[in-house]
Amino acid sequence: MITARSHFFTEEHEMFRAQVRNFVSREITPYIDQWEQEGLFPKSLYRRMGELGFLGIRYPEKYGGSGGDIWMTIAFCEELCRCRALGLPMSVLVHTDMSSTHIARYGTEEQRQQYLVPMIKGEKVCAIAVSEPAAGSDVAGIQTTAVRHGDTYVLNGAKIFITNSVHADVFCVAAKTDKDKGHRGISLFIVERDTPGFRLAKKLQKLGNHSSDTGELVFEEVRIPRHNLIGEEGKGFYYIMANFQDERLIAASLAVGAAQQALEDTLRYTRERRAFGKRLFDHQTVAHRLADMATELEAARQLTYYAADVLQRGGDCSTEVSMAKLFAAEVANRIAYHCLQLHGGYGYIQEFPIERFFRDIRLSPIGGGTSEIMREIIAKRGLDRE
Ligand SMILES: Cc1cc2nc3c(=O)[nH]c(=O)nc-3n(C[C@H](O)[C@H](O)[C@H](O)COP(=O)(O)OP(=O)(O)OC[C@H]3O[C@@H](n4cnc5c(N)ncnc54)[C@H](O)[C@@H]3O)c2cc1C
Repeated sequence: MITARSHFFTEEHEMFRAQVRNFVSREITPYIDQWEQEGLFPKSLYRRMGELGFLGIRYPEKYGGSGGDIWMTIAFCEELCRCRALGLPMSVLVHTDMSSTHIARYGTEEQRQQYLVPMIKGEKVCAIAVSEPAAGSDVAGIQTTAVRHGDTYVLNGAKIFITNSVHADVFCVAAKTDKDKGHRGISLFIVERDTPGFRLAKKLQKLGNHSSDTGELVFEEVRIPRHNLIGEEGKGFYYIMANFQDERLIAASLAVGAAQQALEDTLRYTRERRAFGKRLFDHQTVAHRLADMATELEAARQLTYYAADVLQRGGDCSTEVSMAKLFAAEVANRIAYHCLQLHGGYGYIQEFPIERFFRDIRLSPIGGGTSEIMREIIAKRGLDRE
């Protein structure tokens, strides 16, 4: 299928893309149906991806990373989606770009050596625990507390919807160190899985993304050393908001990558399937539907690349990234609807990848900030300026 080329990708990016594509086709795609059924992929895959240099794309070389740029990350996201499931890519990207990032950016040198280095090797898996049963979009409303007692903090509370909750060895946990200060009272902590009082309460059964482990966490008098604080006390909310830019850009990129695969699959199907004496593709309404989808997808891709370019150059990219996430998530869901429709009854059957895409992509306008929250950001930061 023809897609517009982007001048952002150099030969080096394309070589890296080819390496990821080769890895996905040999070491993920043949097993993905089994992992989806089992509700988890093997943890050993992290070590394998660490060996191949996939887990530290943008991290400094001195920690074992590749010192790459955002285009390398985008190529990685797009190629991971070639496995025709979104659970595994989401888990891996939560590890690489949504959780370990806090330790990389705000952690001490000791924390980076102790946690980031093994995370880049795939020896330790990371998760980010912000959402709670009573506070998701409203991050400032979290109720988990961290009370200082001498050289320790004691955590109490619960988290929900936490990706990597079965595989993770290390959790970056948001908790209130000062309940009276609203968002200024939130801090981020490193909590290791085997810490007494900390447990996975439940692995959640989901509509889609089955190969990704999503769970509910409980903290009961969890005592962690004071030096497990990430960055400064009271700055957690700002760290989370800053990291959302990467997280949301990656969410946009995943939506584009997965929709691309779905559209290619559907295009192939409409060229093979016949009705009323000719290929589905030869019915004009079908071909035009595909043309509309290809056009919308290209718009989503280019908006995502534009937001990536703004992010790469530094500065405030929250409006551009929010636009990309909002648009890509909604376009991908429209594509899911129409691609399934073009498969007819087969689209509803699990043997056809479009059925999984339809379920998996539904998370896109919810996770990492809902479409409504994206519109809020665009309205307040992008439109309501003098
Ligand atoms: C599979 C999965 C994986 C996840 N992984 C993680 C993870 O690893 N770590 C983590 O911390 N969280 C994770 N989440 C949580 C995710 O980020 C939240 O679900 C999301 O932010 C929405 O929060 P909520 O579910 O509490 O919905 P709510 O905030 O309760 O929102 C409910 C509805 O109200 C709307 N709404 C809320 N506020 C406004 C407003 N101001 N204006 C208009 N509409 C509004 C929302 O858009 C939504 O439609 C995950 C969720 C899922 C489903």
